[in-house]
Amino acid sequence: MKVMKFGGTSVGSVESIQNLKRIVEAEKKPVVVVVSALGGITDLLLKTSRLALNGDEHWRQEFSAIKQRHFDMIDTLFEGDESRREPLTQTISSFFRELESIFYGVFLIHDLSPKTEAAIVSYGERLSSHIVATLIDGGVRMNSRDFIRTVKKQGNHVLDAELTYRLVSEAFSPICCCDTATNKTVAVVPGFIARDRDTHETTNLGRGGSDYTAAIIAAALDAEVLEIWTDVDGFMTADPRVIKTAYTINELSYVEAMELCNFGAKVVYPPTIYPVCVKNIPIKVKNTFNPEHPGTLIKQKIDNDKKPIKGISSIKGTTLITVTGLSMVGVIGVNRRIFSTLAENGISVFMVSQASSENSTSIGVRDEDATRAVEVLNIEFAKEIVTGAMFPMQAEHGLATIAIVGENMKHTPGIAGKLFGTLGRSGISVIACAQGASETNISFVVDAKYLRKSLNVLHDSFFLSEYKVLNLFICGIGTVGGNLIEQIRSQYDTLKETRQLKLNVVGIASSKKGIFTRDGIDLSTYREQLAQAEDSNIERLKEEVIGMNIFNSVFVDCTASAEVAALYQDFLDHNISVVTANKIAASGPYDAYAQLKKTALKKGIKFLFETNVGAGLPIIGTINDLLNSGDKILRIEAVLSGTLNFIFNTISSDVSFSETVRLAKERGYSEPDPRIDLCGKDVIRKLVILTREAGYRVEQDDVEKHLFMPDSFFDGSLDDFWSNLPSLDADFEMRRQELDKEHKRWRFVAKMEGGRTSVSLEAVSQHHPFYGLEGSNNIVLLTTERYREYPMLIQGYGAGAGVTAAGVFANIMSIANI
Ligand code: ADP
Ligand code: ASP
Ligand code: MG
Repeated sequence: MKVMKFGGTSVGSVESIQNLKRIVEAEKKPVVVVVSALGGITDLLLKTSRLALNGDEHWRQEFSAIKQRHFDMIDTLFEGDESRREPLTQTISSFFRELESIFYGVFLIHDLSPKTEAAIVSYGERLSSHIVATLIDGGVRMNSRDFIRTVKKQGNHVLDAELTYRLVSEAFSPICCCDTATNKTVAVVPGFIARDRDTHETTNLGRGGSDYTAAIIAAALDAEVLEIWTDVDGFMTADPRVIKTAYTINELSYVEAMELCNFGAKVVYPPTIYPVCVKNIPIKVKNTFNPEHPGTLIKQKIDNDKKPIKGISSIKGTTLITVTGLSMVGVIGVNRRIFSTLAENGISVFMVSQASSENSTSIGVRDEDATRAVEVLNIEFAKEIVTGAMFPMQAEHGLATIAIVGENMKHTPGIAGKLFGTLGRSGISVIACAQGASETNISFVVDAKYLRKSLNVLHDSFFLSEYKVLNLFICGIGTVGGNLIEQIRSQYDTLKETRQLKLNVVGIASSKKGIFTRDGIDLSTYREQLAQAEDSNIERLKEEVIGMNIFNSVFVDCTASAEVAALYQDFLDHNISVVTANKIAASGPYDAYAQLKKTALKKGIKFLFETNVGAGLPIIGTINDLLNSGDKILRIEAVLSGTLNFIFNTISSDVSFSETVRLAKERGYSEPDPRIDLCGKDVIRKLVILTREAGYRVEQDDVEKHLFMPDSFFDGSLDDFWSNLPSLDADFEMRRQELDKEHKRWRFVAKMEGGRTSVSLEAVSQHHPFYGLEGSNNIVLLTTERYREYPMLIQGYGAGAGVTAAGVFANIMSIANI
């Protein structure tokens, strides 16, 4: 025979309860069906009790809503079936009359004893079991309070296993004997509720206790299997509400399941495992909404199981109590006293960590037990505290405990290293940790604000190693940003399939608007979404990026904004990598640039700005590679301005100087304000960046300038600039004709030699490698110790939104490290 337990969500709606009926009626043998209260009803019963206790008249509304929900369900389920509906309605009505009287009593006398509360919550399962028993063909309702018995120990009601097992066998023997398809009986049992062995008052097995009821019955009757029917496809690698990529675990051992449940995997109530484990009865976790899915099988031993880690679970409200003292080593039996004091007070400890010096022990307890735990421990160690041998207990709140679980961990070295390394790289510090000698679990405590991030990075690194996620914030949706988003959108599926990389864009910001969502933005409609989004500014941008606190995150700057560049240090400090097309940070004050690089290095994250020089050309990366492999950069000569090169290649007898500037702007080669190119500032910034990357300390002011336009053109407004520009045309044309005669061309050349830097307009002759440089292309000649006689030459498109966006994309990909 089989015991099948259906949880709150499986009896929560008409649709789910009809699924239940189909699943149960398809069984060929007698079954025991254990049901929870309708989903959410236990919580509502408790809430209504509190309202009544506080003299709040609203208890009546809540009560009516509970009642209505049950009657609505009955009306729909039994429509046109008066023979079943009528008697059921009578039973349910009489339950509600009783329940209303109890609430009214609580309301009148302002008293809610644990006994009354237990009586109130018992109605949830009493009601649901009547509904289910009436609905199922062959359903017989059994009263679990007749056979599930508890006894009071240290203020808690715990199962009297011996008595219960005997009573269960007696109660179910007629059903167990009935074994033919025609005579099939379905015993429907309310889960959760019980009766005190001595006082006979109504008690229960604790929140989520219906699982336990089912396990007890399965064990007492030596069932062939215990099925837990719920609303997910089985036991998953992590809580699917937090980890979107969690997936079903096919098989788990009892030990693994127990560890995961103890550390918060809500899918099975922890005490459930023990009774069936002792009897070697397998547990199947199945989905009422998807019965075809095989679900999870929990049993003694798993064959051919190679996975070191099976799952991750967590407990949110953790308080860490530290028992410490300088001479604690001399105090006898500290640990025994700690644990027996806590046990006597019914406080359960789920994690212990002790330093080998033995002068401090940290204990993880649930938040709700923390105050009491501190109190009783201070009393227990009062004498030692007075003499100074120990300090008063310290409690640290606002924490969360995480456990990674797997029986094969003990055969696999390096798990702890991978665990702590992964957390460290994400900027998460571990406050306490513990690993039992059985090595089936490593548990550790972190600040609660890092819980989600910790779960995500760990899930990613232990379960999805073949499938990596990068979370991107993209700032700036102009030509480069817009192109980048388009490139990411079109590469998304290919990267996912061929590289197991998911590029999840979690934030997009323009200078005025921002959209942020940790589930990822639909890139095909981001402009519409942005248009409808609320207004944003630089402060909000910073808050959203840091506040999302998401793992593997990269901030991508496609703006030319100083305000945005000023955020990098903060982002890097929060373990967010930065990829930028914006030159301001890398060319700004040297110390700030060096600090950004140092932070990234220290945190094990990236600060990348390849597109700052030569757009998509691999210049900075090449310099880094040369240096890292022991080479030395002696000299750099380069044409680094696509705009200026375009201008000096386009200028002719037909196209005046001012006209070329206008064309450069129109074609998107120049900065939005072309003066930045013409005054040499853009080239100076690039030269500074290359010089620094080549290992020299330099500031923009150190660069010697030989410009081709008077300074007066760079003061005043942009409009003045455009109107004055043609005044230079005649002079340029005259000089151009002379140059033509000498068969030379103008190139605006940036130079670095041994750390000394300059920019100047030079006339290069036909044999110079820069002579043939076409359009807006860039060229860089690197003379190094290895490339001395024949310098290394890098040449190609040095401007343009497409290649720049591609360069940014390449930097992002290098962070994914695939
Ligand atoms: P029921 O009402 O069926 O007893 P519960 O709400 O008690 O259901 O348990 C099922 C829920 O447990 C799931 O909906 C899921 O959100 C949560 N859960 C937490 N951790 C896990 C996990 N590791 N695997 C599956 N579900 C989990
Ligand atoms: N109804 C009870 C609760 O919500 C027991 C259960 O659902 O397992 O805790
Ligand atoms: Mg449950």
